[in-house]
Amino acid sequence: MEKLRHGSVRNNNIQKEASIDLIYTNLWPLPPLGFRNKALICPRCGNGAIGSYDHHCSECGAYLYQECTDPSCDYSPDSNARYCSRCGQVTTFFRDKYLMSWEEEAELYIADHSKSM
Ligand SMILES: [Zn+2]
Ligand SMILES: [Zn+2]
Repeated sequence: MEKLRHGSVRNNNIQKEASIDLIYTNLWPLPPLGFRNKALICPRCGNGAIGSYDHHCSECGAYLYQECTDPSCDYSPDSNARYCSRCGQVTTFFRDKYLMSWEEEAELYIADHSKSM
């Protein structure tokens, strides 16, 4: 049963490439990103008092920039990206666990959808 369900999620994931949005976005709202891909609201604790020169949240210490973790890559990933779509390295938001892994989210997605079936 588990295998079958996982298979169907994979198929959805493949379809996504041809069209629209990511399936595994995130369960909580992700912050809008401003200048140089910096979160305007803390992605971890939701603190909205982010100063223009802050690199970290003053409440929880979270790193505020959504970046590719490869220092030689200057791509700016989307707020919900777990991996850099240019070079494949993890993003800072995923590294710092502001985003759950897609596997974890897939399980929740399946749990959620099987309830309504
Ligand atoms: Zn914070
Ligand atoms: Zn990259």
